[in-house]
Amino acid sequence: MDTDLRSSKKQAFLDLLKKRGIQDKRVLEAMATVPREAFVGLDLAELAYDDSPLPIENGQTISQPYIVALMTEAMQLRPSDTVLEIGTGSGYAAAVLSRIVKQVYTIERHRGLAEQARERLSSLGYDNVSVRCGDGTLGWPEHAPFDAIVVTAGGPSVPLSLTRQLVIGGRLIIPVGQSLHDQKLQRITRVSEDDIRTEELGGVRFVPLIGEEGWRDVEGRLNRPPPGKVEPAAALSEQIRSQAIHIPSIESVDLGGLLSRIGDSRLVLLGEASHGTAEFYEMRARITRELIEKKGFHFVAVEADWPDAAQIDHFVRETRKEPTQELTFSRFPTWMWANRQVANFVQWLRHHNRQADTGDQAVGFFGLDLYSLYSSINAIIGYLEQVDTEAAAVARERYGCLTPWEKDPATYGRVALTRQQLSCEQDVVAMLNMLMQKRLEYSAHDGRRFLDAVSNARLVKNAEHFYRSMYDGSVKSWNLRDQHMFDTLESLLDFHGPDSKAIVWAHNSHLGNAEATEMGSRGEINVGSLCRQRFGETAYLIGFGTHQGTVAAASDWGAPMEVKNIVPSTPDSYERLCHDAGLNAFFLPLRHGEKNLVKELQRPRLERAIGVIYRPETEIASHYFIASLSRQFDEYIWFDKTRAVDALGPEAGKGMPETFPFGL
Ligand code: SAH
Repeated sequence: MDTDLRSSKKQAFLDLLKKRGIQDKRVLEAMATVPREAFVGLDLAELAYDDSPLPIENGQTISQPYIVALMTEAMQLRPSDTVLEIGTGSGYAAAVLSRIVKQVYTIERHRGLAEQARERLSSLGYDNVSVRCGDGTLGWPEHAPFDAIVVTAGGPSVPLSLTRQLVIGGRLIIPVGQSLHDQKLQRITRVSEDDIRTEELGGVRFVPLIGEEGWRDVEGRLNRPPPGKVEPAAALSEQIRSQAIHIPSIESVDLGGLLSRIGDSRLVLLGEASHGTAEFYEMRARITRELIEKKGFHFVAVEADWPDAAQIDHFVRETRKEPTQELTFSRFPTWMWANRQVANFVQWLRHHNRQADTGDQAVGFFGLDLYSLYSSINAIIGYLEQVDTEAAAVARERYGCLTPWEKDPATYGRVALTRQQLSCEQDVVAMLNMLMQKRLEYSAHDGRRFLDAVSNARLVKNAEHFYRSMYDGSVKSWNLRDQHMFDTLESLLDFHGPDSKAIVWAHNSHLGNAEATEMGSRGEINVGSLCRQRFGETAYLIGFGTHQGTVAAASDWGAPMEVKNIVPSTPDSYERLCHDAGLNAFFLPLRHGEKNLVKELQRPRLERAIGVIYRPETEIASHYFIASLSRQFDEYIWFDKTRAVDALGPEAGKGMPETFPFGL
């Protein structure tokens, strides 16, 4: 970058800091003096004066300049101070501190980063900074007490060791939160020997603080293993290896053990760690086939919209009388269900039903999700036109309330929230009630078709509420969606009778018990937690995971599908523990697992979730969350290296039988 450009960018950057409220002159001066471009890779130098965090080595980040300035200002520094920083990272924040105070000590847990920062700081002439590699949650007792301490990673609580290493009157600045997505910056002032005062300075997002008094990890302790002893992480991976039940290949593996662990469960929930990994779909299909054949499971319910799945249901039970008009799974994200892996299973299910010749008892395929507001409305009106034309007219009028928003139901949500009189809530509730009241009359014609209509009416009611709640806070809309999926599942079980058994396919984040993850601490529920509450141990929750490979995903909502490379799992995650077990694929029983291992796997660690969208650039913040694996799942299925699903594009449909349900 040329010097003029750099200095004009730098000026804009300082103006921005002032505008955002940074007032301390010494902080602004220090921010102006330290060349941020020297702390990021050459390829990112262009971005050095943008006010955003940037990725550095080891999956870590260099903080956003505004946040560095904010934290530094909050430390209330004087030139004579000695300060401690936890989380050296690139060394940038330490350099800024070193321009303000007498002496800076800084600790970094990744050896490579610590060494690189040490060299960088010394070559730039910052000679009042000492860098050490180690677990910063324990502080640096040899140089304590400190006038101020700053922690640039987020922990679950304030480490006691750090408050004890403050002088009386000393300040500790630290992000604290039970989840990576909900951290609050705190200033803790040590007011006397035993008293502290806590102030909250706003919401922030930092990478996890990992160590003895931070998030639990293995790696943190790797820095100082007693000589001759195996490191805990390696020991744990070794334990996983010894308990793992090897999967030589998806098609040939003997599922006898798994089926006996599942026992008499009424519900088997089969998760996935991404919406675009072939192995997850293939293994789920294999398990599902055996559950149907050997244990007589009655239906499969998936995280897809009801009307789409209904097309598949007609196909597998060969009940479609009239030709279908709508394309199945044509809405973004198409690859999630319109893929070769699902198609193979669907073909198998049709064949199975035909062979078994069970007529009305044929195994069905249903959708639990609620994004199909308008096709559901069409399906209800279509149904009523056949059974009750008067009711169809009422439906047309009531659902007409939602018609103007068909292109963008989210806008409906925003408008209805501010202008109550535009809300369609009453109309959609009234429609569901009307159908329920006519239950006996309508279902006398055909129980399954009534089930279809009423499920769509429930979907419309819940989706209307869902869109309104989107602007009310994400917890509420997440909970509405999962509650809807659970209610639909429950109504399907009711429909199939008291002995009915179901298999569910959805993402791990819907099917693992939310109470065992950071979702729980945010007040979020999911299908897994609701199943646990309602069905107890008769629900068997299975999670899936992977270390690396490729995945089908988009970069943004609505953007085209790409086959993306999965970043190898981060050192502090369950995935890394499984990877280090050194096996390609395995089952890891948790409910019926070895006690010691199960206990170890209760300790909160990071877990990765890739959805429809995958953003490897910001992976830690966007895709990892904190979970307690053996409380989340009854069993975990591992594929070390995975590949993207084979999406069925429009061209792939050529040569398919006409009845093929994907409408391609
Ligand atoms: N201050 C840094 C940003 C650091 S990101 C900068 O200006 O570039 C947070 C850093 O904290 C990461 O490098 C991470 O490895 C480190 N970290 C996390 N837990 C730690 C611990 N217990 N002790 C020391 N460093 C830790």
